[in-house]
Amino acid sequence: MTDDSIASGVSRRVLLSLGGLTLVSAFAATPASATPLPSPQPQPQQPPPRPAPGREGEMLGDSHPLGVTAPDESAANRHGPQYYVHKGPHAIALTIDDGPDPRYTPQVLALLHRYGITATFCQIGQEIRRHPALVREVAAQGHLLANHTWTHADLAREGRTAIREEITRTSEILDRTTGTRPVLFRAPYGAWSSRVLAECRAQGLRPLDWSVDPRDWSRPGTADIVRTILRTTRTGSIILEHDGGGNRSQTVAALRTVLPRLLDEGYHFVTP
Ligand SMILES: [Zn+2]
Repeated sequence: MTDDSIASGVSRRVLLSLGGLTLVSAFAATPASATPLPSPQPQPQQPPPRPAPGREGEMLGDSHPLGVTAPDESAANRHGPQYYVHKGPHAIALTIDDGPDPRYTPQVLALLHRYGITATFCQIGQEIRRHPALVREVAAQGHLLANHTWTHADLAREGRTAIREEITRTSEILDRTTGTRPVLFRAPYGAWSSRVLAECRAQGLRPLDWSVDPRDWSRPGTADIVRTILRTTRTGSIILEHDGGGNRSQTVAALRTVLPRLLDEGYHFVTP
């Protein structure tokens, strides 16, 4: 299998399962309970589907390059990425990716401090190495730090060795810099593959995705970012924003509006 994406993995399972079913049917009258497929049923209380994924427009910034399947956090998919938080009514999570960045990370930290909000920063190893004091400041202010690879590589295109290196180096530098090893991993571009998920399991990292994507990295305009977040955030949403990888002034401006509005609407911020 040249492409080990989840989608093709599922397709292969379907084929294997159908093959098994044919084989069994030849010998038994009752349809066998062959290999169970990932649960196709919608989950109860499932939040609305995420906005349509877009295409990558610049070096950094996260947007799923391919369509993703509907969120499924059932037991059948318990090792898959997490799209929602499940911490009660009006609990949501804010995730800030691609930092640390000396221009924008301090501005985001100041806003979070003003509103007493705890966020999750998914940071890039090579930037952590360049700005360790900034990373320590993020941790000191009580935010959670997550592994976002060393170079922001698209891991779905990488082999096992490169995947391991990208993830391991970043966990190690976060540990050395802050004294805490991360427990969450976010794949750049949301590009999950079976190899990436297997490496997460091997390293004790929980794969973290998102459910609200204003595509702030594409600089659609502050008002657009604000509108998307306010229209699509629901209980359990994981919101994706960026403090690195380019000019993030629109992101900062949008957060200045969005954070007090979400608090006014009764939401509170948790970590995944
Ligand atoms: Zn990213």
